[in-house]
Amino acid sequence: MVNGELKKIGVLTSGGDAPGMNAAIRAVVRTAIYNGIQPVGIRRGYAGLLEGDFYEMQSNSVAKIIQQGGTILKSSRVSNFKDPEVCGKAVENLRKEGIDGLVVIGGDGSFRGANLMHKEFGVRVVGLPGTIDNDIFGTDYTIGFDTAINTAVDAIDKIRDTADSHNLIFFVEVMGRDAGFIAQYTAISTGAEAMIIPETENNLDDLCQYLEKERRSNKTSGIIIVSEGADLGSAEQIAEEVKKRLPNYEARVTTLGHVQRGGSPSCRDRVLASILGNAAVEALMNGISGVMVGQINNEVTYTTFDDACSKHNHINWKWQQIAHVLSI
Ligand code: ADP
Repeated sequence: MVNGELKKIGVLTSGGDAPGMNAAIRAVVRTAIYNGIQPVGIRRGYAGLLEGDFYEMQSNSVAKIIQQGGTILKSSRVSNFKDPEVCGKAVENLRKEGIDGLVVIGGDGSFRGANLMHKEFGVRVVGLPGTIDNDIFGTDYTIGFDTAINTAVDAIDKIRDTADSHNLIFFVEVMGRDAGFIAQYTAISTGAEAMIIPETENNLDDLCQYLEKERRSNKTSGIIIVSEGADLGSAEQIAEEVKKRLPNYEARVTTLGHVQRGGSPSCRDRVLASILGNAAVEALMNGISGVMVGQINNEVTYTTFDDACSKHNHINWKWQQIAHVLSI
């Protein structure tokens, strides 16, 4: 392995936090040290980059964080980072500190910022997909998704007990503003009666007809999973509309909210974060830049930031059909 002329690698977490970000930081830090490169932690994402909030990290800086949710480096959103002057200031800080490679852990917004640093200012930078939504092109799974769906499944299993005991229809809202992956996985794995996701056009009349049919087939309770970005509105709004059309139904709403973003990462997320964190440093050492490091079919892959930001992972339509078949 050639180390190029890399002496210092910066690492930051940006945008929405996700379980497994700490495992990724740990992998970046330890791979760098193993290869004789000094890792530098950048606090609070691009905000810390702009303020020069840096600290040199040692191996024990990342001890016992693999099991922790959130991010020890903290995260932030900086609305004007797309302004080249602002971005240029961040690059200047990197250069002053002698950081010659950067790992950005975040979602597509964070990659847009990284791409700007790469294209306009020649910064050597790679990204790692850290978001619970699993909506990033160029990787089968994002860091945090597995933990989030397991948290949601755990909660929905509990809701099912009450739904069954009291013959209720529960509308459960899960995260996913633009993507229905969390909804699809949780719907299939909790045996939900229906799901409403942003990728489909949904219709309240169809939903009500379906619920009536379910009742006629002697189902007494139901779980409907709603992605927060669905076209029919929030779970609360959908439940209100259904109650108007089916006044005999007892409907309840649970919005899972931020519990899905927190908690100790699952085994899968820890492994994914460890493999990708290691691969990110190796990519920089090999002169690779301007890409997101992901994993497809268990192989490490590189996807340009341009593609990672502009293309989309597609929902599996066959799985939608299977979810429907299995919920009868
Ligand atoms: P995520 O990375 O989880 O998608 P955001 O969309 O909030 O989260 O993006 C994180 C940060 O990335 C933003 O606060 C901003 O500083 C930076 N960013 C987002 N979009 C752009 C852009 N088009 N150009 C430059 N920087 C951006």
